[in-house]
Amino acid sequence: MTFTHPDIVRIELQTPFPVGSVNAYLMLSDDARVLVDCGPNYDPAREALQTSLASHGLQPEDITALVLTHGHVDHVGLASLFQSRGVPVYALQGVQTWLTPGGEWDHYRAAFFESLYTSMGVPRDLIARAKRDLFLLQKWNDRSVVDVELVPGQTLPWFPMYEVLHVPGHAQAALALWNRETGDILTGDQLLPHVSSNALIEPTLDATEGRAATRTQSLIQYRANLQALARMELATAYPGHGDPFQEPRDLIRRRLADQERRQSQFYELVAKAPNSTAFDIAVKFFPRHLNQLSLIMSETLGFLDWLEADGKIAAFETHEGVIRWRSTQ
Ligand SMILES: [Zn+2]
Repeated sequence: MTFTHPDIVRIELQTPFPVGSVNAYLMLSDDARVLVDCGPNYDPAREALQTSLASHGLQPEDITALVLTHGHVDHVGLASLFQSRGVPVYALQGVQTWLTPGGEWDHYRAAFFESLYTSMGVPRDLIARAKRDLFLLQKWNDRSVVDVELVPGQTLPWFPMYEVLHVPGHAQAALALWNRETGDILTGDQLLPHVSSNALIEPTLDATEGRAATRTQSLIQYRANLQALARMELATAYPGHGDPFQEPRDLIRRRLADQERRQSQFYELVAKAPNSTAFDIAVKFFPRHLNQLSLIMSETLGFLDWLEADGKIAAFETHEGVIRWRSTQ
């Protein structure tokens, strides 16, 4: 049996977030109509998505399956629009926790970040604001359920030329869909054309009751994943935000080189001001972005992790439980 390659149709949807628009993709063949991501639960996004489906003669219930690249609200908020009409939702293990806004997981993450930011020297008022923002974000989400867990390495049931890749870094439970025959790749937010993806810090999923979760070393993971992608045959990339683009490996090499430059800048900051907290360093690197605490702390911690792994800096804990860094060279 031969399968025809699906057409990939980009559907650009407005979001209420600084990132601007988000992309959903319709994978269309004679046999299946698979939607990859669906936008936030936001009226302009819902209307645009339904209009775009209608232009292909489709109603939400005509979608064969909804595949989620990762759990961030700008990609998943409208999942219930499809699920309530019987469309099965496919995603990696770990995405489910993001689909229950206001639930246990949100409270768990709020407590996790409060304790992380406290140990990184973030002032109390900024921590309180970050916690509020975490819950406010969920205004654009809705409850839904992952019906089928995808496993990295498997192929899509409707399009067997597409392999599910696990691409941790920007998010932990993040996938890309790679066409083994053509090299086309739907990247989610792992690789974006005009902005560098944030490698966001998350609590690890292995935490047990009563024990604080450890955090991910997201930038180190992200770089390893970009290096792995750079060794693959890649053709057209279909990103989660921005226009599709060619030669994703060129962009990957540029991103890796930018990160290396940034790493030396972070090293200089630690070397010049020994005993700084991660927050002290974040303020120096991103003086105008204190209102985006979670982004700048993830970015700063990512580079500190990497410098520490390279043996260039060391962390130590002070008596009040705050972690500080100094150069070892
Ligand atoms: Zn994202």
